[in-house]
Amino acid sequence: MAHQISAQPGIMSVTPYVGGEGKTHGANHVTKLSSNENLLGPSPRAVEAYREISGNLATYPDGGHTALRQAIADVHGLHADRIICGAGSDEILSLLCQAYAGQGTEIVHTEHGFAMYAIYAKVAGSTPVVVKEDTRHTDVDALLAAVTDRTRLMFVANPNNPTGTLIPDAEIERLADSLPPHVLLVMDGAYAEFVREPGYDGYASLVKQRENVVMTRTFSKVYGLGALRVGWAFGPEHVIDVLGRVRGPFNVTSAALAAAEVAVRDTEWTEHCVIQNEVWREWLARQLARAGIPSDPSHGNFICARFPDAATAHAADEALRKRGLIVRDVQGYNLPGCLRITIGDETATRAVADTLTQFMASR
Ligand SMILES: *Cc1c(COP(=O)(O)O)cnc(C)c1O
Repeated sequence: MAHQISAQPGIMSVTPYVGGEGKTHGANHVTKLSSNENLLGPSPRAVEAYREISGNLATYPDGGHTALRQAIADVHGLHADRIICGAGSDEILSLLCQAYAGQGTEIVHTEHGFAMYAIYAKVAGSTPVVVKEDTRHTDVDALLAAVTDRTRLMFVANPNNPTGTLIPDAEIERLADSLPPHVLLVMDGAYAEFVREPGYDGYASLVKQRENVVMTRTFSKVYGLGALRVGWAFGPEHVIDVLGRVRGPFNVTSAALAAAEVAVRDTEWTEHCVIQNEVWREWLARQLARAGIPSDPSHGNFICARFPDAATAHAADEALRKRGLIVRDVQGYNLPGCLRITIGDETATRAVADTLTQFMASR
């Protein structure tokens, strides 16, 4: 039967997001280095808290996320009533688009920015506006030049994914100061915990000082809880109020709330993961550079390795797959010739370095 049922405008222009692959043919043992997950796993105490929830599955979760917001506030020195939790930070990015964008509006993001920005923009009926980067670094002047009367949101990740690059805090402050009053700046802090630059706070103090900046964070990366889908945002009162009206009443499950609360309070485990990441990221970057594969200094839990061309990157990807190492092809991020490699544990990182060193030598 013919139908006349149609989705909202914009939705059919979306190409669904494809996550990092986790399987390959031929290798016995597979290591997934394609989604920036934490290979060391979550805090063992968080796993315990998750197990305990199994005794109470009939009850709805705490819709106010009270204990988790308090834990985040305690650990980061924030006000709990200016925090909102979501099913991954993805949900919060989506809520922001639903709440502030729509037909006739524009959402600005950078050239190599996270794929979900454009997807959520289109779903909300808004037009994504892509801004050039300066050799894989966020370009504040180019972002400002892209703003129009129709701009409602600007998404910036610093450090960015998949490039791993970080621009100075002063540049982000200049951006926040220079935006017209009708634009909300969203600082996506998916990798904020990994940054070791002195004074870096993931823009919490910028949010505290201003009415036009909100920051998002996730439990999927350093906290190793990707399976549970938890993220949060810290923002001005007016933004938290708006998002609180748009979100579902029980958008985060009890298991996710319980595990995340314990994970954020286990700062020792987080610190351990951050240090291990830094050690092996720097080691891998040096080994790859020696093999003829440069990368920009990364501030996340991954490296964006640059090969001489797209064909070589593709062949390198194949060589890694043969060894059961699955990394991320980032052609879809306008980075042909690059592979994004998550920093794993020592064994995985050494295997990547060995494979790519041999690969380059055999060309
Ligand atoms: C991983 C990632 C997210 C989304 O994380 P969630 O799992 O939805 O919390 C958001 N932004 C960037 C840049 C990411 O890399």
